[in-house]
Amino acid sequence: MALKKIEHLGIAVRDLNASNEVFKKLLGVSPYKQEEVASEHVITSFFQIGDSKIELLQATNEESAIHKFLEKNKEGIHHIAFDVADIYAEIERLKGEGFTLIHESPKNGADNKLIAFLHPKSTNGILVELCQEKP
Ligand code: ZN
Repeated sequence: MALKKIEHLGIAVRDLNASNEVFKKLLGVSPYKQEEVASEHVITSFFQIGDSKIELLQATNEESAIHKFLEKNKEGIHHIAFDVADIYAEIERLKGEGFTLIHESPKNGADNKLIAFLHPKSTNGILVELCQEKP
């Protein structure tokens, strides 16, 4: 099976500390990790819910995709991330199916992952992230 599960939902927030408090109450657990991804201009926090995760993302500057998202949208679901066994094979498979990749080769993401995004114009408006745990 190419896509294993929904690995996480990415949620764009304006104030990570304030949103951490909201999600702590909502989910009944504290974030297990907070991590800045300088290359993506975001700071993230992760909550584990069973086999899935919630990723909160706050922009660290105006170059951030999260900053641009929040100029056009309210806070909310930003992307859906699928766990894949082989991200290289999956990128090739999805290109073959006609999807547009934002990243044609995987890059380092938060939470020890290799990641690649699909362009929402080819996925019914949903920003899709592929992610594979780094060995
Ligand atoms: Zn993500």
